[in-house]
Amino acid sequence: MSASVRVRFAPSPTGPLHMGGVRTALFNYLFAKKHNGTFILRVEDTDQTRFVKGAEAYIGESLAWCGIQPDEGTEAGGAHGPYRQSERSELYMNELNHLLSKGNAYKAFDSSEEISSMRGQAEAEGKVWQYDVNTRMNMRNSLSLGADEIAQLEADGHPYTVRFKMPEESRDVCVTDEIRGEILVSSGVLDDKVLMKADGLPTYHLANVVDDHHMEISHVIRGEEWLPSAPLHVLLYEAFGWDSPAFAHLPLILKPTGNGKLSKRDGDKGGFPIFPLAWTDPKTDQIAVGYKENGYLPEAFLNMLLLLGWSSGDERELYSLEEAIAAFSLQNVTKSGARFNPDKAVWFNEQYLRSGDSKRWIEPLKQLNPQTMDDWSHAKCEQILDMMLERVQFLHEIGGHTYLFAAPDAFDENLIRKKWKPETAGYLNDLSRVLAGTEPFDSTNIESEFKQFLESRELGFGAVLLPFRIALTGTGGGPSMFDFAQFLGKEVTLARLAAAVAKLG
Ligand code: GLU
Repeated sequence: MSASVRVRFAPSPTGPLHMGGVRTALFNYLFAKKHNGTFILRVEDTDQTRFVKGAEAYIGESLAWCGIQPDEGTEAGGAHGPYRQSERSELYMNELNHLLSKGNAYKAFDSSEEISSMRGQAEAEGKVWQYDVNTRMNMRNSLSLGADEIAQLEADGHPYTVRFKMPEESRDVCVTDEIRGEILVSSGVLDDKVLMKADGLPTYHLANVVDDHHMEISHVIRGEEWLPSAPLHVLLYEAFGWDSPAFAHLPLILKPTGNGKLSKRDGDKGGFPIFPLAWTDPKTDQIAVGYKENGYLPEAFLNMLLLLGWSSGDERELYSLEEAIAAFSLQNVTKSGARFNPDKAVWFNEQYLRSGDSKRWIEPLKQLNPQTMDDWSHAKCEQILDMMLERVQFLHEIGGHTYLFAAPDAFDENLIRKKWKPETAGYLNDLSRVLAGTEPFDSTNIESEFKQFLESRELGFGAVLLPFRIALTGTGGGPSMFDFAQFLGKEVTLARLAAAVAKLG
């Protein structure tokens, strides 16, 4: 690979960034880093009708949360700026004039009503209509009209669009895709796409190709939905006389059912996020949840996205960002759609929560539980983490285990009915006496004294351990009771036992 890999993530600020967009950004980032290249953020905001306030800032914040920061872009700056298309209009018009003068583009004066009427007529005859090599001479454009007529229209200030002129003679256009191989499309089936709209602004196709060239993009890595545009782009590069970058079209992210593209509606239905961060719709004030606010760790979110469409070829699933950079290649991106599994997203979060040094969660845990944990020592927080990380999927769930912070004020009634026998209180009173003499009061010691107590009384584990748990936590699940008793300390353990016996009898 040449030394100058330059890739871009080119979102349009038309709303919050979908997780599929983050995956596109991630794959671009990985590819750039793998080849010591440059990752560029370009904002494609030429469609003023679809512009949404706050969307550009949201994109930047999302990438920052994920830790995939652009080397060049709207915020980072760089030698190929400006990186916002609305600030590059002059360049597009200059390049468009080149195409016009070379005869690769033409002005079209037809109104949208005229175009609809032509389409309507064709459809009435059961035909499909498009503005192309077969129909353009029946339309009002600089190819079909005489020089005088054109001059008059222009002098009158008649609005016009500029269209790309597909070759007169149909020929095969070859798109070479790093993931999909060679794709041949006949130019004869392609329409004369609009390059400049009647408002004087460039369309996506023109701005995208001009920018990729001027920003010296080596690889265009983008979603599969852009594959149908690629033949036009190849022809545009040719018409400009520029080398085309390499292309890689990433597979779609599919709904959990595997049927169709994953949408925001699927997230609403299935109760999982679609966006990296929460998004407030500026028009309706409706808030859509984000992975971040739902408690996902950015590392887990990225790892989950990595495997949506890429695989190393073996069974391995866990990759830090550094490891993903080392392992990534476009050749291992899959061609077929990648089915999103919300349970798997949760699984990744669990893995990242549990791996590595639990001490890194001390501060986040305290911040999540300011009322209860504000003055807790690090040692105490660490004990909580050691007991609980194996038992939660998200850090914020720890706060829901209220017995960690205060004696239970209620006991699970169902459990009591089934497991609290007339003799239970007596057992717990005896156990309290044993624990009162347990020194040091640590998990190992508590466990061995507990077992000795059972043996000496010929009691089964079940007869005492579950009541012990109910007394200390009010519930039937949770951490190891020996760890938990150590965490509470002797005094609190005995107090909770006494309180439960007093209440439950
Ligand atoms: N602006 C396009 C989008 O929103 C970019 C497509 C491309 O990467 O070429 O997806």
